[in-house]
Amino acid sequence: MIPPDHPRYRSLITREHLADCARKGVVSWEGLTSHGRGEAFDYLLGEKTSASARRAGKTAAALLRTARHPVISVNGNTAALAAREIALLQKASGALVEVNLFHRTPERVQQIESLLRKAGADVFSGEAERLLPLSHDRAFCRREGMFAADVVLVPLEDGDRCGVLVGMGKKVIAIDLNPLSRTAKTATLTIVDEVTRALPVIADACTALTDEECRELVTVLDNHAFLKEALDEMAARLCHALD
Ligand code: ATP
Repeated sequence: MIPPDHPRYRSLITREHLADCARKGVVSWEGLTSHGRGEAFDYLLGEKTSASARRAGKTAAALLRTARHPVISVNGNTAALAAREIALLQKASGALVEVNLFHRTPERVQQIESLLRKAGADVFSGEAERLLPLSHDRAFCRREGMFAADVVLVPLEDGDRCGVLVGMGKKVIAIDLNPLSRTAKTATLTIVDEVTRALPVIADACTALTDEECRELVTVLDNHAFLKEALDEMAARLCHALD
């Protein structure tokens, strides 16, 4: 029982929820360690969305809005943490939602798809094929889904697949609290923020931006600058951590 007045209440509740999802099989045991790495970086951000991450979120909305065939790729951690936010972003952006897993079994895929559907998402499912040039199971996707996408949003991605998707000519939007990860550096655009905070920013901007604003944001997109701003934010916090 976690007391609501505990100073780390939200974080502890989230950990408890993820552990529960791991016991049910939605989250892989390895996914729990990924979450821990994310939490560590979130401390350095002060556990809030920076102005730079907010601009990156708006730019993500612009990429989704100007896409021909946008797809949101969902893994176990994202589904466990943010199924509702994924459903709302899907409504705002019109993107397909497709499950893609590193630790893939038919049962896990079904479990995650059903969790997303319960949260209101319209999941693109059906026969997946080994279509991406990867030696692990993240290679599985649908021909009319991720394979055909021109823009793919990959919350909590690993660097391999991000690189492969970019190599296939797709624009890849990552959400990653670690600005130093291979994913963050390889993606077309990285939002350095916690996934449950980042997704509503993108959804709101999908509705609010004009076509002209979308074109402008896409034209000036500079991922290196977004990563530098995130690192500067973290460095400033570290420098003044004990003041
Ligand atoms: P890479 O292969 O890109 O170098 P990695 O090996 O760290 O990254 P994973 O172990 O798959 O990749 O971790 C996924 C990433 O997701 C980590 O960088 C972690 O910081 C980030 N992350 C974890 N939880 C969250 C969250 N809730 N919100 C945003 N990012 C998160």
